[in-house]
Amino acid sequence: MRYLILTDIHANLEALDTCLADAKPRGYDQVLVLGDLIGYGADPNAVVTRVQRLNPTAIVRGNHDKIARGLEEADGFNVVARSAAEWTLNALTPEIRQWLVDLPQGPHDVDDLVEICHGSPFDEDAYIFDELDALKALQTSKRPLCLFGHTHYPVTFELVGDALSATGPAAASETRLELRDDVKYLLNPGSVGQPRDGDPRAAYAIVDTAKKQVELMRLTYPIEQAQAKVIAAGLPEVLARRLGVGR
Ligand code: ZN
Repeated sequence: MRYLILTDIHANLEALDTCLADAKPRGYDQVLVLGDLIGYGADPNAVVTRVQRLNPTAIVRGNHDKIARGLEEADGFNVVARSAAEWTLNALTPEIRQWLVDLPQGPHDVDDLVEICHGSPFDEDAYIFDELDALKALQTSKRPLCLFGHTHYPVTFELVGDALSATGPAAASETRLELRDDVKYLLNPGSVGQPRDGDPRAAYAIVDTAKKQVELMRLTYPIEQAQAKVIAAGLPEVLARRLGVGR
């Protein structure tokens, strides 16, 4: 089985389409989506429609997707995120809004190898940045490979016995991770539509369960086009700027 892994698309259609075009010739059987389809970007309806057409095998909601339930879900957001949430809520069609409301909460066990969540397996909205939280997530996770998003920061935590190690973002456009049987993995492929590791390239992954391998991709995409749409939509300008620097 080859799973296409998408997370934190954030209404960035240019980034999503670039990832999908790259993934197609590589080949995949099923699609797993780790949440935050909307919020920040200018194409929430088009992005949701694309994802619907992919017919994901498993999908979990992100904190930005929960905005579809009502603006009170944005209470913990900063000023910019809240402003984007208000814009997004106005832009959503009723059908797409309802589809987002109905998205299930993570974590979700996909098969014997893979589990997915938005923030962490112990709390859908928790941010995993440091090794303490990673350890807690690895101990909570019920599968050898737990995939998460939310931080927009590509990282792989590996737990062997009591020893935890972390590997951060790679400069290469493609990195392969061979999965070992004696290791528990907690992996964030990075954000499709709003990277925050200082690298503006879109990120996604393919998990091959037969080969026990993860392919991590970073792709240049038409950033200027996505930025122009953000500005034209009247969304906060900082959201366009940050796409250019990947922060
Ligand atoms: Zn996000």
